[in-house]
Amino acid sequence: MGKRIYLDYSATTPLDPRVSLAMNEFQMKYWGNPSSIHREGQEARAQIDFARTSLAKFLNAKPQEIIFTSGATEANNLAIQGVILANEGRPRNEGDPRPHVITTKLEHQSVYNVIKELENRGVIEATFLNLTKDGMINLEELKNVIKKNTILVSTIFVSNEIGTVLPIREIGKIISDLSPITYNLKPLFHVDAVQATKFYNCNVEKLGCDLLTLSAHKVYGPKGIGALFVKTGSKLKNLTLGGSQEYGLRPGTQNTAGIIGMAKAFELLGSLENRQKTSEKISKLRDKLISELIKIKNIKLNGPMGDLRTPDNVSITIKNMDQDLLIAKLDLAGIAASTGSACVSGSTEPSHVIKALGKTSQKKSATLRLTLGFKTTPLEIEKVTSVLKNIPINAKK
Ligand code: PMP
Repeated sequence: MGKRIYLDYSATTPLDPRVSLAMNEFQMKYWGNPSSIHREGQEARAQIDFARTSLAKFLNAKPQEIIFTSGATEANNLAIQGVILANEGRPRNEGDPRPHVITTKLEHQSVYNVIKELENRGVIEATFLNLTKDGMINLEELKNVIKKNTILVSTIFVSNEIGTVLPIREIGKIISDLSPITYNLKPLFHVDAVQATKFYNCNVEKLGCDLLTLSAHKVYGPKGIGALFVKTGSKLKNLTLGGSQEYGLRPGTQNTAGIIGMAKAFELLGSLENRQKTSEKISKLRDKLISELIKIKNIKLNGPMGDLRTPDNVSITIKNMDQDLLIAKLDLAGIAASTGSACVSGSTEPSHVIKALGKTSQKKSATLRLTLGFKTTPLEIEKVTSVLKNIPINAKK
């Protein structure tokens, strides 16, 4: 059997051996509980503090602004539900509107479904910003929907499904420019940066955000560990009750080896210049793949082209194609690919993101997401192109 071609790096990445080594060494040596006051505990605590400082540096944040969680799903929940919970105590007059939250139709389920659910329960009023046919949001729409009772704006940085890169700095500026006379309490700005950290500048000051979500397993780190950046002074309440770990925002003994692995994985991403170099290399492969695929009959690209698209994402819709059959055929041909997002795979319904692009006849179409990694080669891209060219396109069951 030939070598497998893995093109699902947005679902997860393999663990970098250097990360694995750092985790193993740490686990064998520093197994104490970081909350214990004896030496074993304090040694583990010191290692976690180094990791926190290193991650804070990546974001240009302060170490105490980093809250470790079990992953990005938890970090997104903490950001959104935590801000809403903190606002429950805000004095409101009889007849005042419910708190208002703005997000987009591009979000990952761990943001989209949380806000939908809270809207359905009547806890908040919500606005989901529309997408253009290229999967971009309209900043004028954002400006128009911000209200006095808007407590939170939560947007994705890079779409995990169709690769759009949102103008985070511009969004941050729109929020910070709100007049303090009209908006005596400005909305907080949360960014889901999970798919952005490999290539983009995540300096939180430059982005102008108050909260930012990270995940380790998308950057060659371990699964089950993530973090939320919480800018000093942001009003946020813990969702879990318990001890005082993670400044009281995330009680429970920390996943210490995960934290060490996460910090190492982010350290290995290197400087911004380094990430930009990687980005240029991968963009070339992406563009080659896109240019070949769109030549095939019935295939259309989802999401924007050029700089508005993340270097590692190719998302296409294939007309009259059974989605599950397509993934199975690729798998048999040795190629690991996915539909929209790993979290909705197995569902035959198009995702809320694909639906929001407003394309017709989606029900009969397959969405295919191919996401490239640091080690993807031109040969792998050629092989995938040739396999896709040879799959009968009108293969609907
Ligand atoms: N946000 C985005 C943009 C993602 O791509 C993912 C993972 N698919 C998540 C959040 C959830 O991350 P985790 O697996 O760490 O919970």
